[in-house]
Amino acid sequence: MEKYDIAIIGGGLLGTSISYWISNLYDAKVVVIEKESDVGIHTSSRNTGVVHSPFYLNPDKKGKLAKSAFLSHDMWKTFAKKKGLPWKMVGTMEVALDETQHKLLEKYVNWGTKNGMSQKDIELLNNNEVTQKEPNIRCHSAIYCKTDAIVDYGNFTRKLKEESQRNGTKFLLNKKLESVENLDDCPTLVFQNKEKIISNLVINCAGGYSLEVAKNFGLANDYSSLHFRGEYWIAEDQYANLVKTNVYSVPNYPEFPFLDPHWILRSDGRSEVGPNAVPVPTPETYSGYVGDIETFISKLTEVITGSARKLLLNPEFMNLIAKEWLSSISKTVMIERVQNFIPKIKPEFFSKRGTAGIRTPIITPDGKFLSDVLELESGNSYHILNYNSPGATGAPAYSAYVVKSLQEKGLLSYNSRKTDSIWDFETIE
Ligand SMILES: Cc1cc2nc3c(=O)[nH]c(=O)nc-3n(C[C@H](O)[C@H](O)[C@H](O)COP(=O)(O)OP(=O)(O)OC[C@H]3O[C@@H](n4cnc5c(N)ncnc54)[C@H](O)[C@@H]3O)c2cc1C
Repeated sequence: MEKYDIAIIGGGLLGTSISYWISNLYDAKVVVIEKESDVGIHTSSRNTGVVHSPFYLNPDKKGKLAKSAFLSHDMWKTFAKKKGLPWKMVGTMEVALDETQHKLLEKYVNWGTKNGMSQKDIELLNNNEVTQKEPNIRCHSAIYCKTDAIVDYGNFTRKLKEESQRNGTKFLLNKKLESVENLDDCPTLVFQNKEKIISNLVINCAGGYSLEVAKNFGLANDYSSLHFRGEYWIAEDQYANLVKTNVYSVPNYPEFPFLDPHWILRSDGRSEVGPNAVPVPTPETYSGYVGDIETFISKLTEVITGSARKLLLNPEFMNLIAKEWLSSISKTVMIERVQNFIPKIKPEFFSKRGTAGIRTPIITPDGKFLSDVLELESGNSYHILNYNSPGATGAPAYSAYVVKSLQEKGLLSYNSRKTDSIWDFETIE
């Protein structure tokens, strides 16, 4: 049986970034285990592609995601330049439709500076100033954040994999972790095809399946997770320039971890509307699963297990779910949500669906959505759960933070090595 020092489960942006840092810093035998035929096939490719500036993240509730996003912005910019990958600083307009929402924008300016941003990058505009910049937007006021960029995170993952491989990381593709044996000593990882490997330390970066993997290690048994599919519609070419910046609206339900559909620009020149947030049974149900509302709600009741069941008693949650479901079956309903701030938009401007992606928020034992990333540890395993948006933005800095935590816990006692790096590990605080 092949033996490794460190086995990372999941070749998304998170697992690949962690493998990059460890292989760059240590003489250790590192392996990434990925069930698909390449890295970055799931959420790391199926997202909105925005490099978010963290003005909209409450530093008291989402401190790790916010800090990582702030630190990673320039790291990704350097990476894109070195690798010749598209990096377009198109900016984001976050719009308020009334005075109540405007108050939240004022809060955002404050959060942004607390999260490290310079105030000059978070301009608060009145409706006239917004219309001057973007004539097709109608709103009460908006934040204009010029640092937001658009990229292709799937390509970022694949290029980072090449760097990690150059450092010696092995990528075991088409290997699905099925179970774990020998938990008390060196964990033995058993794949679906019954092959096995042993590793001193296992790092769980399995994205939508990370809770299941943690449970294999006897952790997080009281937690559950839900899966929400985010769907997009692509604007036909002649409408792609209707607005030349991303447009987000202040969320109507800030206590739930999804935003209303927005107008987004893609790095290949397309424009899209999305994502909504439709509950689906698995982290990879990219299509299907709609019917009539009664069947939908009863199926939802079946798939919601454990602590997540408590959410069914929350009328606001159920209201939101019904609205999201409608925007899944009806393009018109989805587009109408964006018409609230881009009135010229019409359903007939959109004839093709974009690539859907799935968010998997973790539900705490008392039935609440967990707001930040959750790290759990056993002596020989480390688990990263709830690594949701803006996780793609924050991956370079957050993965360095994970490596620093492992160092502090004494879990990386290998000879260090000096390899050229795209980013400077020491300066990431
Ligand atoms: C609709 C949507 C829009 C988003 N928009 C943005 C955005 O604009 N900006 C941003 O910063 N973030 C965004 N995000 C969030 C971001 O995409 C994620 O935080 C990030 O990609 C998570 O990366 P990951 O590596 O944890 O997960 P993944 O990319 O899902 O990787 C996990 C990997 O683990 C593998 N795996 C799982 N189980 C096993 C197993 N048993 N054995 C082997 N392999 C396994 C999977 O195949 C997968 O490749 C968005 C997310 C969604 C869903």
